[in-house]
Amino acid sequence: MKTNLFYISIWFVWLGMALPACSQTSKNKTTMDTVNKSDQEWKKELSAEQYYILREKGTEAPYTGKLLMVKDKGMYRCAACGNPLFSSEAKFDSHCGWLSFDKEIKAGTIKTQVDKSHGMERTEIICGRCGGHLGHVFNDGPTETGLRYCVNSVSLEFVPEKETQTTDTITFGGGCFWCMEALFQRLKGVTSVTSGYSGGKIKNPTYEEVSTGTTNHAEVVQIVYKPKEIKLADMLDVFFALHDPTTLNRQGNDVGTQYRSVIFYRNEKQKEVAEEVITRYTREKVFEKPIVTKVEPFTAFYKAEDYHQNYYNGNSDQPYCRIVIMPKLRKLDHLFKSKLKSDK
Ligand code: FE
Repeated sequence: MKTNLFYISIWFVWLGMALPACSQTSKNKTTMDTVNKSDQEWKKELSAEQYYILREKGTEAPYTGKLLMVKDKGMYRCAACGNPLFSSEAKFDSHCGWLSFDKEIKAGTIKTQVDKSHGMERTEIICGRCGGHLGHVFNDGPTETGLRYCVNSVSLEFVPEKETQTTDTITFGGGCFWCMEALFQRLKGVTSVTSGYSGGKIKNPTYEEVSTGTTNHAEVVQIVYKPKEIKLADMLDVFFALHDPTTLNRQGNDVGTQYRSVIFYRNEKQKEVAEEVITRYTREKVFEKPIVTKVEPFTAFYKAEDYHQNYYNGNSDQPYCRIVIMPKLRKLDHLFKSKLKSDK
């Protein structure tokens, strides 16, 4: 009984705090995609508590939220649709019993609407994507925004920073893509490597067409990586150490423009880093002959046929793999051990 009285008193304190509700109305404009599901569908997907709060505009009891004490860096997203809503940097402790944030993660992410329930007027906040009820926003925030987004813990999911890292993509041509793929798959911070063709004239080329050397497409690997875990400069060290960037349109016995040494950059930063590495290698005379690697803007990538994907891992007994790729992997292990995934 005492507990109930405590919650009831807190509840009224909270409603009292809610009275000077800000006058924001649903004027936020957003171009994000929306999620529209029936009540039946939401019932299936959400727990009873989530459904009550997110879909029936319920409120969790104060000081009960599981995310109240979370201090880690990361992102808070809608528990119903996964829409990113708040950064941990916007979180503060208002001692009101619910989660407090001073701003949304991006303008327009959260929608507001007038809530006249409980005999008062407040500003309700809902997920801009799925319309899920989050809580209310008040004009008594302690930071420069002056806002306090008062949010039910149940309405949110926390994603630690480690899992929210963004990725970048770069495309390298350094001879046979079977080799390049096997090498870069093994680097920490690399999330995917896809073999394919880039830099040529025709769309959706086949391996046979590229093999003629007349399409100007190069055999390349498209690498998706996490810049916070591996720097582009480190990947370029691997790239230059494990193919010969001084032979024009040739890697060993593989001859033709399809085997040229090339870096396809997607932004100015990548271009800058690639050129800086080549300049440094040239200045330090890392290679006896001049580097012929081209640094070109990325235009298109065409994924190679399925049998080329993950080739080494599925065909390591094949003579080319044993004679050409295995020694490169040994060199990779020798030179870059600390940069390799532990399971490789
Ligand atoms: Fe949502």
